[in-house]
Amino acid sequence: MLSWLLKLPPFDYRAPESLEEGLGLLAAGDGDARVLAGGQSLIPMMALRLARPSLLIDLRRVGGLAGIRVDAAGMQIGALTTQLVAERHPAVRASSPLLLEALEFIGHPAICSRGTVGGSLCHADPAAELPAVALVLEAELTARSLRRGERTIAAQDFFLGPFTTALEFDEVVTGVGLPAPPQPRGSCFLEVSRRPGDFAMVGVAASVVRNGDRVLDLRLALSGVGDRPRLFALDELELDAQAAPESLFKVAGRSVGSRLRPHEDLHASAAYRKHLATVLTERALRKAYARAPIPGGAAGA
Ligand SMILES: Cc1cc2nc3c(=O)[nH]c(=O)nc-3n(C[C@H](O)[C@H](O)[C@H](O)COP(=O)(O)OP(=O)(O)OC[C@H]3O[C@@H](n4cnc5c(N)ncnc54)[C@H](O)[C@@H]3O)c2cc1C
Repeated sequence: MLSWLLKLPPFDYRAPESLEEGLGLLAAGDGDARVLAGGQSLIPMMALRLARPSLLIDLRRVGGLAGIRVDAAGMQIGALTTQLVAERHPAVRASSPLLLEALEFIGHPAICSRGTVGGSLCHADPAAELPAVALVLEAELTARSLRRGERTIAAQDFFLGPFTTALEFDEVVTGVGLPAPPQPRGSCFLEVSRRPGDFAMVGVAASVVRNGDRVLDLRLALSGVGDRPRLFALDELELDAQAAPESLFKVAGRSVGSRLRPHEDLHASAAYRKHLATVLTERALRKAYARAPIPGGAAGA
């Protein structure tokens, strides 16, 4: 009876061959056109009438928007790089364990083979894994528009609310930069979802720098706990870096839990989300610490 709902509302479709052409179409759409990347979020949103763009601009024929390269400054990921390509890429496997671990949690192969890294960030689902990773890794998104040219947006300034970003209506994200970390660190991504491949009820991305048997620095971001991914740093959590790591991780978990006001939905109560955030924070930090290289010593596990 509701089968009409699964059919998309009418829209025009264009598949430009160049970025300039795509940006021109987007600008002319005056807020009523949307970029189509992998379509794994936008098409379901349209089927459910949560989005009704009059024009879809398919970017998949535009050259130069996919691919991964690494240099001394860090890793550059083209926005149209699919999640599966990123997950299998030797550079990601060799030098971005946090990104790799998070990618392994996303959806199923059929989704990841079309869904893109840039699309996940631009969609800004508060429960998605990649926005949390982008915050911890201090990612920088490159955005282009026809009128204003190129600008760089720090991940910290990019996520404004549920499905809302700092992008202007006429901007396209062309790439994501992950700067090389100033100090070696250990990392960990953990999440709890009802079934493998589902969106997580809560996810935690953690990164730890260690100094011998103490924590020198840490960065955490949580997904599924509010209207956007939530970033925490060592000083914000008022942690004593001189404390023994085990007690620091426990305090960090409690401190994160106490600062969150998660929502309630059919998947989890607010109290359960808080509990997950507390427990997962503690576990992710412990694992990240164990994986962190010890300066002047052997690498962690
Ligand atoms: C069954 C199912 C399970 C899923 N499970 C998960 C999960 O566990 N975790 C998770 O994180 N995701 C999950 N997803 C979503 C998936 O990761 C999507 O691929 C992702 O959210 C969007 O990427 P996309 O390339 O498909 O973007 P699209 O759907 O094409 O676009 C999404 C939005 O971003 C905009 N956009 C896309 N690319 C750009 C760009 N370069 N510049 C500007 N705007 C852009 C579009 O206009 C649109 O508004 C799931 C999806 C499905 C269908």
